[in-house]
Amino acid sequence: MKRVTILGATGSIGQNTLDLIRRAPQEFEVVALTGGRNIAQLAADAREFRANLAVTAHDDLLDDLRAALAGSGIEATSGAQALIEAAARPADWVMSAIVGAAGLPPGLTALEQGATLALANKESLVAAGPLLMATAARNGARILPVDSEHSAIFQALVGEDMEAVRRVIITASGGAFRDWPMERLAGATIEEASTHPNWDMGQRITIDSASMFNKALEMIEAREFFALDPDKIEVLVHPESLVHALVGFCDGGLMAHVGPPDMRHAIGYALNWPERRELPVEALDLAATGQLTFRAPDMARYPALRLAREVMRARGLSGAVFNGAKERALDHFIAGRIGFLAMSAIVEEVLTRLSADKGLIDAEITLDTVMHLDHLSRICADEVAQKQSR
Ligand code: NAD
Ligand code: MG
Repeated sequence: MKRVTILGATGSIGQNTLDLIRRAPQEFEVVALTGGRNIAQLAADAREFRANLAVTAHDDLLDDLRAALAGSGIEATSGAQALIEAAARPADWVMSAIVGAAGLPPGLTALEQGATLALANKESLVAAGPLLMATAARNGARILPVDSEHSAIFQALVGEDMEAVRRVIITASGGAFRDWPMERLAGATIEEASTHPNWDMGQRITIDSASMFNKALEMIEAREFFALDPDKIEVLVHPESLVHALVGFCDGGLMAHVGPPDMRHAIGYALNWPERRELPVEALDLAATGQLTFRAPDMARYPALRLAREVMRARGLSGAVFNGAKERALDHFIAGRIGFLAMSAIVEEVLTRLSADKGLIDAEITLDTVMHLDHLSRICADEVAQKQSR
């Protein structure tokens, strides 16, 4: 039996992970499930999968969680420290599917206990890539990518020599506004930005797809995960979302990973790795698809991609600043305080302001310095947003 813990079990990735576990219950023992405000879902899943522990991130909801689990014998806890304790419970495989930098501390804890970390939470690699990779190496733990593009790269690299890799191309659907004229973007609403043409995901990553901040995070994620030179990382807009990434080699060959836009493929690959097993994923009919199209991203439309290149070159703690500022800018957009284009303007301004202090950005990357920079970048983003607010 594989002992599994799911951080962020109630979200889109968490639910897809449980869907796979539900199909092979005899193979898995669920140690802990964590969630946020959706107590009914968390309690129902904890009961169904006979988890030992259920954790809500919110202390004010602990009583509700306890009530929902009454009589089940399942332990209930709450708060940020409880998330870390959940990740410290012995497990073989931990899904990191909390959204945002909040996923970093429990993810690190899972690695410290030597678990295999299935990483959907790209924000933790963006904010603290070297810390995460070093923690895994030190503890003999493994990180397996779950982001579809990174799973695709990982699969294309099986048996290959990194020395032979010349380029990695990450594809982007282009998000909700890929065909909108530029003039309309400033007035884009939260509802409009929250609908994805191809993927069904949480609201935050869906909006990040419309602004291409998601792709920007993924460029940095690829840099950190595969230790790639930033110049080798390219982005192509691919509206069909069937080719997830391509790896180019020194002999001119390109290995493309093709699959339906269903996260259960990448999650299942990480769950079954190093084996491949049957997954409930549609077999593509490429004749019916007919065409796969690609185009260069419009850099004027997506400043996030330019900022990602700057962050990849600067490294240090600039990833923590980039992510923190982005998360806060997104909060402001979702709250209706700023317009769609203000998000990238805020992130750029925060990066400029905080990068001016080289001592700050180039400090050693520890959990404390990352959380400090994350905090500073959010405060700075609030100040900048105040100026931008409509
Ligand atoms: P979601 O919003 O659907 O779910 C997020 C989960 O995290 C929920 O369980 C929520 O309760 C929990 N959570 C939110 N804030 C928290 C906090 N402060 N502390 C503790 N728990 C918190 O998000 P999602 O779409 O499932 O995405 C999860 C992660 O996976 C993100 O990092 C995202 O970028 C990444 N990812 C998602 C997809 C996708 O298809 N949804 C694809 C690739 C990568
Ligand atoms: Mg992705």
